[in-house]
Amino acid sequence: MVCFCFLVDQSKKVRRTKPAAGICSRCGGGASVADMKTATRFCYVPFYWKRWRAIICTFCGAVLRSYP
Ligand SMILES: [Zn+2]
Repeated sequence: MVCFCFLVDQSKKVRRTKPAAGICSRCGGGASVADMKTATRFCYVPFYWKRWRAIICTFCGAVLRSYP
């Protein structure tokens, strides 16, 4: 019998940010370019990392635009 573990989650970390032009469409806060790192974890053991760049709101943390 196969037992599946569904404890898969993702943790998103902002590595560093740089101020960028633009404002957040949700709260009107300032936008910044951020280097993001997403770790996918399986039973709390990270097994996949992805680095990506996004424009996020410095106030509410919303992702305004992401780059592949
Ligand atoms: Zn915002």
